This record gives sequence, structure tokens and C-alpha cells, in this order.
Amino acid sequence: MSARPTECHTLVVGGGCIGMSIAAHLALAGAAESTVVVDKGNFGEGTTAQSSASIRGNYGHPALAGLARDALRIFQDFEAIYGRTAGFRQTGYLALFGPRDAAAAHANVAMQQDSGLSTYLVDPARVGELLPDAAVPDCAGAICEDEAGYAEPSLVVHAFTEVAREGGATLLRQTPVRELREHPSGTGVIATLDTGTISARRVVVAANAWSSALLDGLGLAVPVRATRHQIAKLAFPDAAAAPQRITVDMVHQFYLRPQAGPHALLGSSRDIDGHDEVDPDSFRRRVDEGYLEACAAYLHERYPGWESVGLGSGYCGVYDVSPDWQPLIGPLHGRDDVWAACGFSGHGFKHAPQLGRLIAAALLGDGPAGGRLRIFDPDRFERGEPIVATHRYHAGPAYR
Ligand SMILES: Cc1cc2nc3c(=O)[nH]c(=O)nc-3n(C[C@H](O)[C@H](O)[C@H](O)COP(=O)(O)OP(=O)(O)OC[C@H]3O[C@@H](n4cnc5c(N)ncnc54)[C@H](O)[C@@H]3O)c2cc1C
Repeated sequence: MSARPTECHTLVVGGGCIGMSIAAHLALAGAAESTVVVDKGNFGEGTTAQSSASIRGNYGHPALAGLARDALRIFQDFEAIYGRTAGFRQTGYLALFGPRDAAAAHANVAMQQDSGLSTYLVDPARVGELLPDAAVPDCAGAICEDEAGYAEPSLVVHAFTEVAREGGATLLRQTPVRELREHPSGTGVIATLDTGTISARRVVVAANAWSSALLDGLGLAVPVRATRHQIAKLAFPDAAAAPQRITVDMVHQFYLRPQAGPHALLGSSRDIDGHDEVDPDSFRRRVDEGYLEACAAYLHERYPGWESVGLGSGYCGVYDVSPDWQPLIGPLHGRDDVWAACGFSGHGFKHAPQLGRLIAAALLGDGPAGGRLRIFDPDRFERGEPIVATHRYHAGPAYR
């Protein structure tokens, strides 16, 4: 572990995929010498470790589709850029939709294609061919994305950590920030640690569901709440029988994400998945019996031939949900010394490389990067300007 400085230019609180990506991109820009990243645990051990880590471009807003397109390109080229693998596995992606979401799906795919994404629509007959085990009488079609896939969160954080370290950033594990307060000079902050303080000209709070409590110390709490989400694990008789593609079912609000070998993850965005506000330090980590029952009923209806598939308890994680399910990125209340990078609402992993790049550029004063981030202005809710998809799905806020 690096020695702890008592002052720095930029203090990043949170060493998950977001905070560490910011540090890595500051390093790649040659500006990490006076950057300190602190995490209360080990790097990448927070929400990032619980991520399903799906990477896809199917978004309902052009700004998000554009970010996802750029992030996908980075994941495809990850090793050349960062010198380490992200474990990216291109599986392809399929999002099933019902009749009530057909118009939005058509409009969104047109928008995504205009944004340079390779998504396309397939009709119900083709859905049946792509998912021969599925019963799809309620589907009006699907959005396909052959380039989509998933990566390994621990490898991604490891890569960013090494790049940041090589660039001269100071990285401090097991170092909780107990409080953030104003610097007496009126600019910058003082972070209280267990072993003393760090005085920073600027702080970037990338602490996921813990961000609001930290910012509260500066009188700058953000509207981000922690909600609990459950993941069940599926075991198939052999790898050939397991799903190969990420499949999002907007009709029933479940998603399947393949894993290596004869395994898959089953997540949901339904209300049965909790969505209750929880304490991110003490939420129930075990999957509820009711969730497993809902998963079993879903599998029975959608995949009637999967009788021999084992449905096992998995794990739970938290989303840092903002009012419009989009992140809060940028200075708070116009204060250039206090930035937020939180509120990723269950879809931040895929954006981490591209957002880290843009945030680092914006911190270094790059206007265009700041321009692309402006839509995520943390103060937008106070102005009554949440981000709204042009063509919204009925299926709920998780389909953004
Ligand atoms: C079940 C689940 C499935 C998901 N699936 C996907 C998906 O398929 N695709 C996708 O794109 N996204 C997905 N996400 C969302 C994605 O994982 C997150 O948006 C992303 O990991 C957030 O990264 P982060 O760095 O902001 O947060 P974190 O990884 O939580 O990092 C924040 C860090 O801050 C640290 N911290 C907190 N308080 C303090 C403090 N006081 N002092 C010091 N350090 C502190 C924590 O220890 C933590 O390491 C999923 C999330 C969950 C929970």
C-alpha cells in the first residue's frame, strides 16, 4: 500500500470501477501524480464485485446510447489501451419485448443505429429460432446486438488500478473517509480518515450508495438511495445446454446472463426483486425464498423444457438509484472543488471506461468532455430536468 500524503490535488473517494477508471484516465493523461484514491475496503470489492457486468448499447436516450457505443469499443480494445485484459466475452444480446413496447423498440433501434450501434430488430419467428428452448407467444420481437457481452469486474478494476499506480497515483485501501468538510480557506475539502486527514483541492465522490451520506457532511447530499437486488444462479446439465447470449426479457422483467461453463445468472427488475431502500452496509445478502419461487415460475413459463436446470441461491447487491435512474456526474451546486460520480442505478459498469475517460478530461478542463457530461449534471433534479428517454418502455425504469 502507498504511503499516505496529507495533501493532494484530487482526492477520489471510492475505488470501484468508476473511481478507479477516473484515476486511470488521469494517469493516462499524465496527471495522476497528485491524485489519491481511497477506499474503505479493497478496490473493486463494493458494488462492482456484485455486477452482472453486461455491456450493451440498447438504451432509450441518444446520450446513453453514444456512451455505451464508446464503452463497447473500449472493452473490445481493452488490452491494447490498458495493457491488461478485461475478460470481455462477446456473447451477443437479445431483448425480448411485448406488443405494448414494440413502437418504442422500433424507435430506439433506429436511434441506436443512427448513433453508430449495431443493434437490429428481429421478428417473433426469428426469436423462436434464436431461443429454441423458449416459449415466446407473448413476444412481438426482440432487439439484437451481436457485439454485446460481459466482462470480469475484478479484472477491469485490476487493470485500472495498475494503470493509475503506474501513472503515479497514490492508492489507499482499507482507508475509510469518516467525514468530508470544507477547507477553512473556502476552497477544497478536508477528508477525515482514521489515521489523520487529507487536504484536497478537489474531491470526486465515487462512492456509489455511500456517496450521499459523505456529501451530507458538506451540506451537498445527493438524491441517491441504495436498493437491494437479487441474483439467482442457474446450473445446466452441460455447457452446451446453457444460454450463450445475454437475454433480457422485458415482458417478464427478468434477465439471463451466461457464465463460463454450464452456468448462468438470473436477475430481475420486477418489484419482487425488493427495490426497497436498504443500508448499503447491512442489507440481507442471501436471496429471498420468494425470489427463488418467482424465478422458478418464470423459467417454467418461458423455458418449459428446462426441467433439469438447477436453480440455486445466488447473492444480493445494491444499486445506487437516482430519481431518473441515470448517474449524477459533475460539480455540485457549481462548486468545482466537489464533484459527484454516483447514482449509476444498476448500469454503471459498462460505462466505466468511457465515463472515466470523460470525467478525467473534464477534471483537466477539457470543454468538449464536459459538454458530453453536462446531461448528467447532479443539480438537474432541482431544476426539474430529469433525463427522460425519448421513447420509453412500459416495462419500467430499469429499461432506460
Ligand atoms: C446485482 C447487480 C447487477 C448489476 N449488473 C450490471 C450490468 O449488467 N451492467 C452494468 O453496466 N452495470 C451493472 N450493475 C451496476 C454496476 O455494477 C455499478 O453501477 C458499478 O459497479 C458502480 O461502480 P462504482 O465504482 O460507482 O461503485 P462501487 O464498486 O460500489 O465502488 C464504490 C466504492 O466506494 C467505497 N466507499 C464507500 N464509502 C466510502 C468511504 N466513506 N470511504 C472510502 N471508500 C468508500 C466502497 O468501499 C466501494 O468500493 C449491477 C449492479 C448490481 C448490484
